[in-house]
Amino acid sequence: QTIGDCFDATVERFPEQDALISRHQGLRYSWQQLQQAVDQAARGLLALGVAKGDRVGIWSPNCAEWTITQFATAKVGAILVNINPSYRTHELEYALKQSATSTLILQGSFKTSDYVATLAELVPELREAQAPELRDGSPDGLASARLPELKRVICLDEERALPGMHSWSGLLAHADRVDADRLAEVQAGLEFDEPINIQYTSGTTGAPKGATLSHHNILNNGFFVARTMNLSEADRMVIPVPLYHCFGMVMGNLGCVTHGATMIYPGDGFDAQATLEAVAEERATTLYGVPTMFIAELEHPAFERFDLSSLRTGIMAGSICPIEVMRKVIDQMNMQDVTICYGMTETSPVSFQTQTDAPLEKRVTTVGTIHPHLEVKLVSPDTGAVVPRGETGELCTRGYSVMLGYWNNEEATAKAIDAAGWMHTGDLATMDEEGYVAIVGRIKDMIIRGGENVYPREIEDFLYTHPAISDVQVIGVPDEKYGEEVMAWVKLSEGEELDEEGLKAFCQGRIAHYKVPRYVKFVDAFPMTVTGKIQKYKMREEATHELG
Ligand code: ATP
Ligand code: MG
Repeated sequence: QTIGDCFDATVERFPEQDALISRHQGLRYSWQQLQQAVDQAARGLLALGVAKGDRVGIWSPNCAEWTITQFATAKVGAILVNINPSYRTHELEYALKQSATSTLILQGSFKTSDYVATLAELVPELREAQAPELRDGSPDGLASARLPELKRVICLDEERALPGMHSWSGLLAHADRVDADRLAEVQAGLEFDEPINIQYTSGTTGAPKGATLSHHNILNNGFFVARTMNLSEADRMVIPVPLYHCFGMVMGNLGCVTHGATMIYPGDGFDAQATLEAVAEERATTLYGVPTMFIAELEHPAFERFDLSSLRTGIMAGSICPIEVMRKVIDQMNMQDVTICYGMTETSPVSFQTQTDAPLEKRVTTVGTIHPHLEVKLVSPDTGAVVPRGETGELCTRGYSVMLGYWNNEEATAKAIDAAGWMHTGDLATMDEEGYVAIVGRIKDMIIRGGENVYPREIEDFLYTHPAISDVQVIGVPDEKYGEEVMAWVKLSEGEELDEEGLKAFCQGRIAHYKVPRYVKFVDAFPMTVTGKIQKYKMREEATHELG
């Protein structure tokens, strides 16, 4: 089954039920109405010359058109390229070039960021009135000097569209030129194991890599994520997480579509109040978020005013959740069935999830157990041998969810997926007797000091307990004597004072001598990806340079 076939099957089962509610846009669609919109957009894309395997990029915060595009491209077999709404010129150019995107659908602007102007910097040709053939869907399309592969641009904000762009309504108007039979024929010619999506990784360890995923990869992953929460057509899911990321697009949208649940978007960016309102007013049963989103919701001054009694389940993912927050989510937000996930873009994404009835302790110390139809092993990064239970090893997974490969990067693919099909995640983990897995850190971040393995996470957790420290990151820096030495970057809380001596004195006698940071640097911020993940490789580069 392809994503388009699954979508149509759900429409057939629940035609009148709510499919999608985009609250900030004031749009509501039943499954039947959503199908109409999707099919019209799909026929419009065919009319413009978009064909199977072509890359269609979408650069927009959450909106109904994002999702319509997701299913329209799935129906014509075009490969959807998710572009992060926070990207600017440099990153946008990288993604468009790397994926050789030929059609770009973009929002006019988002917050302080002017998408149209940013794109026009790369493609000034868009400012010129286009020859009529572009509007009529000529396969030649735009002739951009800098992005020669880019043939057409479709702007969601009609008023901001430049002369060289199509508008969204223009795209829909083109649908008249392609009939429903033609679309059905194209859809029937697709295979479930063909590529349908390129998602760029966060760029935490280097330049983002384009994970290429098939219908089979992501549709099944969405299905199993939702099944773990016992989702059905009676469920209504609030999705405040971004759609460009697998959290929104796969775990959210595909989770809903595979079970007939309703997708509810509370806003274009995250807002605690809009999210709480969406839950209360839409009587939502399911809520997604990263721990910081749940914290913001719990801390909202009018939290008590929102009726959250309809909530039952949801997902908290992205990082380990503090135990107090988890308790509050269960007790105060009524999410007794909340689940925890671990995943990575390359594995569609989810490979571990807690069951809805997992004990609280497991939900705060582990990422759950392996998903159905997947295999897991933990291996020594040095020898590749499976480590004994309880010991730390590299997490490897195998099964349907492993990506087809990195787009146009065979070397990186061969490094990540071995000949036997195991995805080497680059994450270090432990597994207990019951199969619960805990994430320890990333291999690339592990420090080897004088032959001793040092896990930054452990030192960070310890240093966090110092009252003056608001945030801390630990890295390894080259050292002639020990190979590597421990370095801590420390952010102090407002008005607090602490110096290197004081910090080292705090460590003495409390942690092993080789874990005590040899170097300490006080900073105001850490280098971050646009998704808010800390880039330790940049810290290492900077520190190595400074230490000479
Ligand atoms: P890049 O691969 O470009 O360096 P990235 O690995 O951060 O970036 P993603 O695919 O978005 O890009 O993130 C997956 C990673 O996030 C995992 O490999 C893991 O390190 C981390 N991660 C995901 N879920 C959890 C979790 N529940 N707890 C701890 N870490 C997690
Ligand atoms: Mg990664």
